[in-house]
Amino acid sequence: MNEAAVQLRAVPAATDSAMPPSLWAATAPPGPSLERLTGSLTTEVAVVGAGYTGLSTALHLASAGIECAVIDRHEPGWGASGRNGGQVLAGLRLQRAELRRIFGPARGDRTYEMVETAADFLFALVEHHGIDCDLVRGGSIRLAHTERGMALLRESHAELVSEGVASRLLDAEAVAREVGTRAYVGGRFDPRSGTLHPLKYARGLARAALGAGAVLYRDSPATAIRRDGTRWRVATDGGEIVASKVVIATDGYTDRLWPGLAETMLPLNSFQVATAPLADAERETILPGGACFSDTRRLILYAQRTRDHRLVLGGRASFTLAERVADYDVLRRVLTGLFPQLRDTPIDYRWVGRVALTRDFLPHLHTPAPGLMIAVGFNGKGVAMTTLMGKILADQLRAPTEPPAYSVTDIKRIPFHALRQPVLHLAMYYQTLMDRLGR
Ligand SMILES: Cc1cc2nc3c(=O)[nH]c(=O)nc-3n(C[C@H](O)[C@H](O)[C@H](O)COP(=O)(O)OP(=O)(O)OC[C@H]3O[C@@H](n4cnc5c(N)ncnc54)[C@H](O)[C@@H]3O)c2cc1C
Repeated sequence: MNEAAVQLRAVPAATDSAMPPSLWAATAPPGPSLERLTGSLTTEVAVVGAGYTGLSTALHLASAGIECAVIDRHEPGWGASGRNGGQVLAGLRLQRAELRRIFGPARGDRTYEMVETAADFLFALVEHHGIDCDLVRGGSIRLAHTERGMALLRESHAELVSEGVASRLLDAEAVAREVGTRAYVGGRFDPRSGTLHPLKYARGLARAALGAGAVLYRDSPATAIRRDGTRWRVATDGGEIVASKVVIATDGYTDRLWPGLAETMLPLNSFQVATAPLADAERETILPGGACFSDTRRLILYAQRTRDHRLVLGGRASFTLAERVADYDVLRRVLTGLFPQLRDTPIDYRWVGRVALTRDFLPHLHTPAPGLMIAVGFNGKGVAMTTLMGKILADQLRAPTEPPAYSVTDIKRIPFHALRQPVLHLAMYYQTLMDRLGR
């Protein structure tokens, strides 16, 4: 293999020192100019975390005329929202039958039907607010790495078709034509999905929220939350917000702010690489129709082709929260395994982001105290769902006596959470082995 191909060509500096370097940070226009919170601010709703969840909540609150202030430890889109794979997907990780089992038939069906609208919701919101984020509706392809994976795709295809979705099954030949790899047994195409530039979207949401009247602060970590009579006091390292209601939207970057919350999730590092722009011949063979893909492995692989024709491939998850060069080397080998035609194509960017896994693979909505709402645990499938969750949170804050559109659960710590690193390492090796054995 060409030595130059395995080396990173160069990691161009991010446009803003606070953002971790990535393709997205290097190619997004700067975010809105924001200040750090100093002094005391009184508002109706304080939102902690300026990812898609917090920003969509603020946008929907402000659009309804409700005062709100959003604070982030860094800046809008600094977390997973500015680093992800940009796949706009309908639904959750779990299918209808699993949701019916967890919530019971009626609530399970309601939840399934609502979450399946998440991608449509995002497309409509982006159009309504004129957010420039390279959004394209090219569909998504789920690829089966084994016959068993293909059987599951056939089941979900039948379900989607019965719901009127123009889902399409692909055999290995069709995958080779539409994805450009012969590494899979087959796949399923979902026309409802699309791709976007994650950081442009986060910054666009921030601008839309500001335009609607929300206030946003950067470099303002919330350090404590306490109830004071009928109000909440959210302390930051430079100031304080006094609010009637508080939203915590910190997903995989959740810290010790609310007792027990971090212990409800397993933070996982997911790595991504972006190639140099593909040559003309490669553009004709790799995702020529503009779809994105993910596969049925336990340790999922996912990719999109960007507007400037780079392939962005993600996967190689790790529970070690440090960034290790070896993880990128594995991803590089995976890339050339899937697409041997890219063996000499340089990798221009590489970066990592944190996914929050929950025990049941579902996002969780918690209301542990009056006026406090928490939405976390998007399990690496949150671009569309967090956008919808922001609307759900805003609606609930406006009409707290109505039943919430998404089920509220108690904060339940994962047992032995403190031992997660060694145990999860073993689990990760097991999962990798099972994937290799095709189980
Ligand atoms: C590498 C990667 C690839 C992914 N790919 C996809 C994909 O292709 N499609 C898809 O649907 N989903 C994907 N996801 C998942 C998706 O990105 C997330 O579900 C979603 O962005 C979560 O948004 P959020 O607003 O809830 O949290 P985040 O965007 O993570 O934002 C949380 C914010 O909280 C802030 N914060 C934390 N603590 C504090 C504090 N004490 N005070 C103030 N601020 C604080 C952080 O600074 C951060 O900005 C991916 C995730 C990763 C990491």
